[in-house]
Amino acid sequence: METPTREQILKAPKVLLHDHLDGGMRPLTVIELAAEQGYSELPTHNPDELASWFTRGADRRNLELYLETFAHTVGVTQTPEGLARAAAEAAEDLAADGVVYAEIRFAPELHTEKGLSLDEVVESVLAGFRTGMANAARAGQPIIIGTLVTAMRTAARSLEIAKLAVKYRDQGVVGFDIAGAEAGFPPTIHLDAFQLIMRENFHITIHAGEAFGLPSIHEALQYCGAERLGHGVRIIDDITFDSEGEPVLGRLAAYVRDRRIPLEMCPTSNVNTGAADTYESHPIKLLRELRYRVTMNTDNRLMSDVSMTDEFEKSCRSFDWDLSDMQWLTVNAMKSSFWPFQERLDLINNVIKPGYAALMDS
Ligand SMILES: [Zn+2]
Repeated sequence: METPTREQILKAPKVLLHDHLDGGMRPLTVIELAAEQGYSELPTHNPDELASWFTRGADRRNLELYLETFAHTVGVTQTPEGLARAAAEAAEDLAADGVVYAEIRFAPELHTEKGLSLDEVVESVLAGFRTGMANAARAGQPIIIGTLVTAMRTAARSLEIAKLAVKYRDQGVVGFDIAGAEAGFPPTIHLDAFQLIMRENFHITIHAGEAFGLPSIHEALQYCGAERLGHGVRIIDDITFDSEGEPVLGRLAAYVRDRRIPLEMCPTSNVNTGAADTYESHPIKLLRELRYRVTMNTDNRLMSDVSMTDEFEKSCRSFDWDLSDMQWLTVNAMKSSFWPFQERLDLINNVIKPGYAALMDS
């Protein structure tokens, strides 16, 4: 089959498992919230200039530098209104991009600078997602949002945040994650938090194998109970090639494939942070060929200046993928979501497969 057009990619049903609330705000919203709240740190008040400031700041080939740009999006989301607006707009923007199911994550502990409690932060975000879902449905592009509650791996509040995630599991929170600078902060620092989640039969995804290598992936899976890997791109370090050029999987790489561990891959973000050299050489191509449970994700739509449509357009062009590859990645993502099983099946059978079938027929 041929390379799909941008219009086909936009129309195709897409599923997103790895997207940060504070990394996906609209530039104009950041500016307006800053004005409302008297936040004076923004480098510019022109939306286009601000968008490119974020992208330039993010694309410095280093995870710690990439994360610096979040100071402003976090700075303007310290009120219930700011959080709810960011959440509602995220749902609307993803729906308009053809995303039918998304898990959006955020770290409540980052939004308490002006005195909000952790509960108020979570409730504001969940209310915003409900508004955004209702608006998207009214616009004829329904989307389901599952919320992931993230703890900062560089802080010491993960047990408290894990309890918070469990507390809101019946209001839209579907799992728990840790994020932030990876080197020096292995997942096992937060073992008590992960064990609480496991005892509660709740769900875990862990940012691992992005800026740091195999030990981080190993700990996430074998000590901390991760069901999915945020990025996981460094699993490539456990794959070598024999003299015939055939891939040879190390024990960890084999385990990840055998157990169908979902990889939440974010190629553009990986190029920005230096976790991958170029888009064209991104390991997602090989991992897809080796039939890992690969999924496609945006990570931070604002900082990396990407949408799901952009990401698939780039990957189809770079890796010679077509609509059937897109469908495979999308079904992988839906199967790997933390949404209830029956509703996952419904989305696969009643939304995703018919959506691709219609595009392939036309
Ligand atoms: Zn991330």
